[in-house]
Amino acid sequence: MKQSTPERPSDVVARLRATYRTGRTKPVEWRTDQLRRLRAMLTENGADLAAALRADLGKSATEAYRTEIDFTVREIDHTLEHLDEWLRPEPAPVPAHLGDDATAWTQYDPLGVVLVIAPWNYPAQLLLAPLVGALAAGNAVVAKPSELAPATSTALARLIPAYLDTDAVAVVEGGIPETTALLAERFDHIFYTGNGTVGRIVLRAAAEYLTPVTLELGGKSPVFVDRGTDLDVVADRLARGKFLNAGQTCVAPDYVLTDPETAVALEAALVRVVEGLYGADPATSPEYGRIVNERHFDRLSALLDSGRVAVGGGSDRADKYIAPTVLVDVEPDAPVMREEIFGPILPIVTVPDLDAAITFINDRDKPLALYVFAESAGTRDRIAAETSSGGLGHGLPLAHLTVSDLPFGGVGESGMGSYHGRYSIETFSHRKAVLAKPLS
Ligand code: NAD
Repeated sequence: MKQSTPERPSDVVARLRATYRTGRTKPVEWRTDQLRRLRAMLTENGADLAAALRADLGKSATEAYRTEIDFTVREIDHTLEHLDEWLRPEPAPVPAHLGDDATAWTQYDPLGVVLVIAPWNYPAQLLLAPLVGALAAGNAVVAKPSELAPATSTALARLIPAYLDTDAVAVVEGGIPETTALLAERFDHIFYTGNGTVGRIVLRAAAEYLTPVTLELGGKSPVFVDRGTDLDVVADRLARGKFLNAGQTCVAPDYVLTDPETAVALEAALVRVVEGLYGADPATSPEYGRIVNERHFDRLSALLDSGRVAVGGGSDRADKYIAPTVLVDVEPDAPVMREEIFGPILPIVTVPDLDAAITFINDRDKPLALYVFAESAGTRDRIAAETSSGGLGHGLPLAHLTVSDLPFGGVGESGMGSYHGRYSIETFSHRKAVLAKPLS
């Protein structure tokens, strides 16, 4: 496997640690300069990155800009605008026994050298958005792009050293052997995005050095559609959220829970919407993406007969194409309901009522996201209070992660820790407690 630097992982980490020890990454000026350079990298090379994303995932340029390039630029701008405020020491009240002249506060210290490991589905955003936070917090960073998005990995390995401080930021390309070698090193934080199996490998490796870990994982994110909602609106928002990036989005709606009557009307609405969005033959739609590789294509193809196909169902292995597909009459234990789908298949499962929907959700792993389409505030409140998920979206899937002031992360099986905006500063810093008592 190709590596962007001739250095061994241990040498890369040692070199970055030496830089960190000089204090170079700590001044806020260095941090903001790196962020501005990263911004320039994205704006000056957007077309190259979009081409790489098309090569890896068939992403349209619109989608590449919206969900990867511009997304990261917005994260940088938000950070540049607020960094001083986020880093400000926070005073803490001092108890009386320490006297009137004692003061206390918290200050954010960088952690040191951090490792960011990214997945293939948003291969630019999910490497660069954590990098923004790690740099803003004053760390040196080893960035490991996903080998399953090779064109984007190559582009990032070329661009990042051309724009950022190479003594403090290194890209290590590669797959399992390279990541395993990196994980044998001591880091001050590991930020991993991907699946839970590798998440466990990361956590075990981190335990060796007591390294804190953020795990941004996935899972089956449910949707509850209540009776009496405008199903044209629901279907439109659901389809756009589900079929973005051909369903390969960690917070994509995984499956729909609704009552049998609503299911019939929702099926009809989804058929209309999917045909309207992608035409009679979605394979020819310039906006519709492809499955990342044959392994995932084969996995997804095997799920297509988990129910009756309401729309879609077509596929072409040579093109890694799977049509946007809605499955109805799906049993709760059908194959498509046993694992995170992570592809363009939307099953509808019927439940008698809200109580059954809540039980269904709580019987399974805590999801990364949960979406509710309900006019009734009582229904929305009950789901918010009685379920646990990384994020909760009322009326609109995916969009919560574009709100820079919301923490993005999972809970339970969907991960631990969070980031974006000020939450990235929390993740990539140590909040140091300071007490000061004058000597005289
Ligand atoms: P992936 O296969 O690209 O793996 C992610 C990273 O882990 C890669 O850099 C890879 O090199 C490394 N890796 C793989 N096997 C390894 C091993 N045995 N030892 C050490 N490192 C290894 O991506 P993926 O896991 O297929 O990504 C899809 C999953 O990620 C889905 O479950 C999805 O929901 C989740 N995801 C979560 C988020 C989030 O923000 N929470 C975002 C995107 C994807």
